[in-house]
Amino acid sequence: MLTYVYEFSEGNKDLKDLLGGKGANLAEMTNLGLPVPPGFTITTEACRAYLESGGMPEGMAGQVTEKLTALEAAMGKRLGQPDDPLLVSVRSGAKFSMPGMMETVLNIGLNDDSVGGLAAQSGDERFAWDSYRRLVQMFGKTVLDIDGDLFEDAIEERKRAIGADGDLDLGAEDFRALVAAFKDIVLQASGRPFPTDPREQMDLAVRAVFDSWNAPRAVLYRRRERIPADLGTAVNVCAMVFGNLGMDSGTGVAFTRDPATGRQGVYGDYLQNAQGEDVVAGIRNTVPLADLERIDEASHDELMGIMRTLEEHYRDLCDIEFTIERGKLWMLQTRVGKRTAAAAFRIADQLVEQGMITPDEAITRVNGDQLAQLMFPRFDEAAPRDVLGRGMNASPGAAVGRAVFDSAAAVKRARAGEKVVLCRRETNPDDLEGMLAAEGILTSRGGKTSHAAVVARGMGTTCVCGAEELDIDVKERRMTAPGGRVVEEGDLISIDGSTGEVFLGEVPVVDSPVVRYFDGTLDPEGEEADDLVRAVHRVMGRADADRRLGVRANADTPEDAARARRMGAQGIGLCRTEHMFLGERRPLVERLILAEDGAERDEALEGLLPLQRTDFTGILEAMDGLAVTVRLIDPPLHEFLPDLTELSVRVALAQERGERHDNDRRLLRAVQRLHEQNPMMGLRGVRLGLVVPGLFTMQVRALAQAAAERLRAGGDPRPEVMIPLVGTVQELEIIREEAVRTVREVAEEYGVELEFPIGTMIELPRAALTAGQIAESAEFFSFGTNDLTQTVWGFSRDDVEASFFSQYLEKGVFGVSPFETIDVEGVGRLVRAAVEEGRAARPDLKLGVCGEHGGDPASVHFFDRVGLDYVSCSPFRVPVARLEAGRAAV
Ligand code: ADP
Ligand code: MG
Ligand code: MG
Repeated sequence: MLTYVYEFSEGNKDLKDLLGGKGANLAEMTNLGLPVPPGFTITTEACRAYLESGGMPEGMAGQVTEKLTALEAAMGKRLGQPDDPLLVSVRSGAKFSMPGMMETVLNIGLNDDSVGGLAAQSGDERFAWDSYRRLVQMFGKTVLDIDGDLFEDAIEERKRAIGADGDLDLGAEDFRALVAAFKDIVLQASGRPFPTDPREQMDLAVRAVFDSWNAPRAVLYRRRERIPADLGTAVNVCAMVFGNLGMDSGTGVAFTRDPATGRQGVYGDYLQNAQGEDVVAGIRNTVPLADLERIDEASHDELMGIMRTLEEHYRDLCDIEFTIERGKLWMLQTRVGKRTAAAAFRIADQLVEQGMITPDEAITRVNGDQLAQLMFPRFDEAAPRDVLGRGMNASPGAAVGRAVFDSAAAVKRARAGEKVVLCRRETNPDDLEGMLAAEGILTSRGGKTSHAAVVARGMGTTCVCGAEELDIDVKERRMTAPGGRVVEEGDLISIDGSTGEVFLGEVPVVDSPVVRYFDGTLDPEGEEADDLVRAVHRVMGRADADRRLGVRANADTPEDAARARRMGAQGIGLCRTEHMFLGERRPLVERLILAEDGAERDEALEGLLPLQRTDFTGILEAMDGLAVTVRLIDPPLHEFLPDLTELSVRVALAQERGERHDNDRRLLRAVQRLHEQNPMMGLRGVRLGLVVPGLFTMQVRALAQAAAERLRAGGDPRPEVMIPLVGTVQELEIIREEAVRTVREVAEEYGVELEFPIGTMIELPRAALTAGQIAESAEFFSFGTNDLTQTVWGFSRDDVEASFFSQYLEKGVFGVSPFETIDVEGVGRLVRAAVEEGRAARPDLKLGVCGEHGGDPASVHFFDRVGLDYVSCSPFRVPVARLEAGRAAV
């Protein structure tokens, strides 16, 4: 028979799958000889069996009895024994912590008999009845699913009746009366009396914890956090200790280092004469942990020793829950603690310094999301600030602007050159224009998957959402903060998307020192650098040493290329050429499209050639010695032409006025001819190259000439030509032949040697599925995972993200947008297949990715696993990709 129940002394910290996080760590502390109240853990395996069959697995009840008997023997009293009861807590604890998702019942074993025993043993009648009413209350709420307000209301009523201010004014008699009232509530609300049999109380609580695994909010939480649904939770049964037995008792939480800054020195809160839940509930004000030294020096010193032990043992920051019962210290929980991004880097660095972890381990203690957080501009810490309210930190950054309350106002003011923060109760797709125009977005409703949050993150706009304490009145165009302070439309506000704070007025914004370090303007060894910058510097050095995956940048201008290089890019993975056709060059492009014969077309191309060549020379110079992958023009041609409606109106007006308008008329005909219902799937990419004679050739010639000029100037240009939107090898072959010929011609002209790798994007399912054939003609693949995601899912990104993605996230269809993190099962499967087939056909095929996924932490790990050679991302994400590539390798 399987073992379903483990005593604390039988487990250890590596058994989290079986015992859950809390149980595994209670076991670990027990085995370290720390003062943990004895108890046992019922496994996740038992939970899974129960959830499958609806009944407790065979043999579990007997094992529970066995362990309970052992516990009773150790404690020298039986569960609920009338004259001296053993009481226990029943605590949920899954492998991954799910804050506030599942609950705990304390004081199990109390009933009308044993409450007397507890009073006699403790010599404290009030304490005994308070404990009893807590049991009925928690049991009612957690196990019997009764509305908690019913109990709270009864307490309030009692307080009113006796004229009491706080809980401390309630006496033994009051609690006795509350127990009676609570039992009534239980009977009324659940239709059954409160169970008085201690073992029945315990069994019901265990079952309730198992059931809570599938409570709707837990299911939703797991979907969002991408925690597997089938893990189940463990249950810990733990002998009760009491922090509410007078002023020589108390309870607290603590961290072995400051989780906010990462600086050394313990940190925590303590509450005298209270049970654990009181600290979290914030019923009374806690005192800083340091005060415990004055209150109870012996317990304080013991606690400090234990915290050192735990840190050395876990080799990381730990957080703990403890209780002092009449001067005796008990440890109730520990785990490796959560921390801010800055703390994560500082701690990882300190631990290396202290010899507790290796540099390789240090890079696993931080992640790219944390690094990205440290790179956002921030409000100047030294500047005064006036907090209006708080919401959720939905999309990081620091935004300052004038408050506006609808999309139209946002657009209008932004057009007039003002910076605005769009304030809405919540947003919907109609607000999109205003959201685009705004520096920041503030909502009073909705969580981190609300429309505002999702769209803001997608756009990289600062967003604070769900600031419920701010009353946003869109009709009156004003927002009211607690205390009645009012922000009218046009008033300046500042919002911090990294902390969720909202400030009145303008708070000055400064560049992150971490960005200044990456950008080369802050010397990590210099005076000005603080310990955070030094920590980032050392961690990055290690990540670079460890990683296999190359990191390139997407950059289209010499300035971006230079910046990317400073940020550590090892080349350009995607140089788009479309912006090079805009602005003053637009007339040339129009002429190209309007050309009615070869001569006209050639003339237009001749005009574009030198401009394009200059673009490339600058970029090749900035990336001298490193690969520069140039993608030939990709978007639909009509994007370079005037808007159809506007042009029609212009032509009609000109006609009315009897003016000459030949050129506009021709343009209009061309625009009409090129108009497409669905341009994303229309004439673009390689299709354009095949249909508009000379266009791609001109681009390749410009690139070849730029390279030749760089060679003559003594440079080391490494251009690569990339063909977009290929669906079949035939398309590629036609373009390729022409490109090879062009490069050869230029080489002869200049008398230099030129050889460019020519490759293709893999961004259509058909390309991925025929990668073996395509590789015959391509020297490299670059996965265009943005388009590949659009075409695999059939999503038009611009449409879906702003309209229904927030609902998809809310409903848990996916935990994260497939445009943010690569969809491994669908899109990723195609990538994997294309890698395998491509390499089989051409073993030295070079493989990269140039979608935004190239800078996304989870996706980088996937690309490392499937064996790509490099990822390419925006210059700003390069450090994140470097770090994640390092983490993927260790
Ligand atoms: P959570 O996972 O929400 O932290 P816990 O199981 O840790 O839930 O318990 C909730 C509170 O009850 C905590 O403050 C904890 O310290 C306290 N607690 C749990 N078990 C006991 C016990 N046996 N004796 C005293 N306090 C306990
Ligand atoms: Mg806890
Ligand atoms: Mg594309």
